Amino acid sequence: MLVLTPLIVVLWRWFQAGLPHFKLHYLLEALILWLAVIVIGYQSFTVESYEKAFLFFTPIWLVLLGVIAAIRLGVVGASATVALITVFAVEHLVRGTHPIIVDTPQNAVWLTQEYLAIIAVVSIGLAMLIQEISEQRDVLKQHENALKAQNQFLEERVNERTLALKEVNQALQNANGRLAKSAATDELTGIPNRRHFLSEVQRELQRLRLDGQTASAIMIDLDHFKQVNDNLGHEAGDLVLCNIVEPISNAIRPRDLFGRMGGEEFLVFLSGADQKLANSVAERIRAEIESLEVLYRNQKINVTASLGVAEWDGRSHLDELFHQADKALYQAKNKGRNRVINLTESDSDSKNRPSHEDHFELP
Ligand code: GH3
Ligand code: MG
Ligand code: MG
Repeated sequence: MLVLTPLIVVLWRWFQAGLPHFKLHYLLEALILWLAVIVIGYQSFTVESYEKAFLFFTPIWLVLLGVIAAIRLGVVGASATVALITVFAVEHLVRGTHPIIVDTPQNAVWLTQEYLAIIAVVSIGLAMLIQEISEQRDVLKQHENALKAQNQFLEERVNERTLALKEVNQALQNANGRLAKSAATDELTGIPNRRHFLSEVQRELQRLRLDGQTASAIMIDLDHFKQVNDNLGHEAGDLVLCNIVEPISNAIRPRDLFGRMGGEEFLVFLSGADQKLANSVAERIRAEIESLEVLYRNQKINVTASLGVAEWDGRSHLDELFHQADKALYQAKNKGRNRVINLTESDSDSKNRPSHEDHFELP
């Protein structure tokens, strides 16, 4: 039962599921092993006494071959090997030539059965154990592969989500940037609006206060601008406001601050500039605006501006500074427009220009 049952089970399975495909090296190994079983089996079961045995071949050598069969050939190979050894043992037991010297045939049968049981248990048992381990290893491998696939899938999902988040983040940052820019920019002229300009000046004043430097402000207001709108329309007025930016920018340094305070009023803040320098800058701005020619539907528009200059005293709040500049501007208007007034130098308007009432011309 011990010897034949595994073999019958295997053969029954083959009968039902078809012959498995054996690899060539497996068949070769089996052939060599069985050849060894035949040679050693023949030697060990036919020899009269073990002293005469070639290489001391005894039935115990066949246990070793059973173990090798279990390791190399699996349950099928081990079962076949054990069956082959059984054939030798039984054949020689029947012929009475077996080397196990015993007093009665019953004892010889017992001993042979024990011998075959040991070989069968060791060889087939070991083969089954190895098969079990290898099956378990396969299952583990499958689980590992499944885990790896799952892991890869998760990693891909995480990467996808990270990429998508990055894109959303970038879009958000861009939108924030645009929002911040549009919140700080005057829509019509594209220069800093009042709020942004004032906060920039505030920051600059703090820096200048620490450095002990001076600064000046120039308030610019277009003269009789209402007439441009009244005579040529709001669109023409807008065009003039847009075009006024360039001459003012040309007259100041890149680091100077420049913003639209509202309507046709602009403010320039000159860091480190005393009133003398501020006066000359203001005069340059005035001259640039005066020489500006805006073309609107084949009509040339000329405008002038009045400018009020004030130097910062190094202590006061920016409201005070702008208030001084505004006062100077008011005087410039009163004195006939198209001029620069600096209150600290009471009548230092660069040129006492006549009032320039017809500051826009129709062709
Ligand atoms: P003054 O020389 O005294 O400054 O006279 P003014 O006409 O320039 O001043 P006033 O304050 O009487 O009028 C300012 C005009 O500026 C009124 C308004 O129609 C015009 N204005 C203000 N903002 C805008 C704007 O964004 N676009 C246009 N086209 N006109 C504007
Ligand atoms: Mg005004
Ligand atoms: Mg005006």
